[in-house]
Amino acid sequence: MYGSIRRGVYDTMRRMDFGLSDDQKQIQEMVRDFATSDIKPHLAEWDEAQHFPVDTFKKAGQLGLLGVTIPEQYGGAGLSYIDYVNVIEELGVVDSGFALSVAAHNSLCTGHTYLAGNEDQKKKWLPKLTSGEWIGAWGLTEPGSGSDASGMRTTAVKDGNEWVLNGTKNFITNATYADLSVVLAVTDREDKKHGITAFAVEKDRKGIRAGKKENKLGMRVSDTAELVLEDCRVPDENMLGKIGYGFVDAMKVLDGGRISIGALAVGIARGAYEAARDYAKQRTAFGQVIAQFQAIQFMLADMATEVDAARLLCYRAATIKDSGERVTQFSAMAKLYASEVAVRATEKGVQIFGGYGFIKEFPAEKYYRDVKLCTIGEGTSEIQRMVIARTLLAES
Ligand SMILES: Cc1cc2nc3c(=O)[nH]c(=O)nc-3n(C[C@H](O)[C@H](O)[C@H](O)COP(=O)(O)OP(=O)(O)OC[C@H]3O[C@@H](n4cnc5c(N)ncnc54)[C@H](O)[C@@H]3O)c2cc1C
Repeated sequence: MYGSIRRGVYDTMRRMDFGLSDDQKQIQEMVRDFATSDIKPHLAEWDEAQHFPVDTFKKAGQLGLLGVTIPEQYGGAGLSYIDYVNVIEELGVVDSGFALSVAAHNSLCTGHTYLAGNEDQKKKWLPKLTSGEWIGAWGLTEPGSGSDASGMRTTAVKDGNEWVLNGTKNFITNATYADLSVVLAVTDREDKKHGITAFAVEKDRKGIRAGKKENKLGMRVSDTAELVLEDCRVPDENMLGKIGYGFVDAMKVLDGGRISIGALAVGIARGAYEAARDYAKQRTAFGQVIAQFQAIQFMLADMATEVDAARLLCYRAATIKDSGERVTQFSAMAKLYASEVAVRATEKGVQIFGGYGFIKEFPAEKYYRDVKLCTIGEGTSEIQRMVIARTLLAES
């Protein structure tokens, strides 16, 4: 039943049914090869040490993975959101921490710069970000405001032709290494709708620094730290988008980013599934491989089915995003479903590995630790449900 023919059919169906072109399959393979050769051999060490591999990250830039959807005129790969989903899934199978850093760089920092930047800003910053010469971060969250991001306290006060930024952002992906950080700050406390503005801050500006680096449950290869702004001065030219439109743009940025977190969850769940499937075929108990037990088969069946369903929701959201239509509801659905499915899949993965599922030399426990971030980052599951329900009720 678990012979090579069935597996081959499953693998082929998974790819063919989604109608990926030869080019898209080649991109998938290229990412898989990169992750397998440049990340996998070091994973246990990097995970233990919470080491963010800067050189490997920059190599991802040389491969076109740090500006996947950005047009070629700005140094990007000019690919579709479907391709971006595939890139993040493939990285996520091998290491979701690295994939998270790639996703934050692509969809958040680079994505915000592309969405809201003027032509001069795009020409100045995007080629550096897309090539990997510069690493990008995006600061919305603060110690006192995450889900309620508009309650932020960081301020930007105008002083002549400059803005003076003060405040602390926390849980910021890539913050320790960021050459460019997009920072959201209050410019008009009284204006509840248009009181927040985005600024691009280069790392050599006086007054910006990375703060405390977090010691995390999972995604430990990804850097997560505070971003501290102390009388940090930036010129008018560093304001991204219109004054007062930073929060509105940030929500659009998250619409795209959430698809990548969905893809990340799919990658983790697929990795957990594949590891459990292979283990179940060689581990014996009561005189037979455990894959012969229906209890194990049902877990594998649920895992594989839910992974495929989650990927389809990500593809749907990516297709809508590529079309330019409003994707808010669909990206929230993809992220919500994929992340919750992935939590279930990784839990089953540990169960199938039995005691070895609890041991670091085996792959199941890392997937189990890493996955939880997907139900939290870029909006918790509760926030996704609120976003979805709001759209549904407004439409009915
Ligand atoms: C590893 C990691 C990387 C991150 N990267 C970045 C980054 O690069 N940039 C960035 O800006 N942020 C980043 N974040 C922050 C992340 O987006 C926030 O942690 C997340 O949005 C939740 O905010 P919070 O932690 O303040 O939780 P809270 O908002 O305090 O939420 C706590 C609980 O209350 C619930 N809750 C809150 N409001 C409601 C409500 N109205 N109804 C029902 N339930 C509610 C939440 O769902 C949650 O269960 C990162 C976080 C982590 C852990």
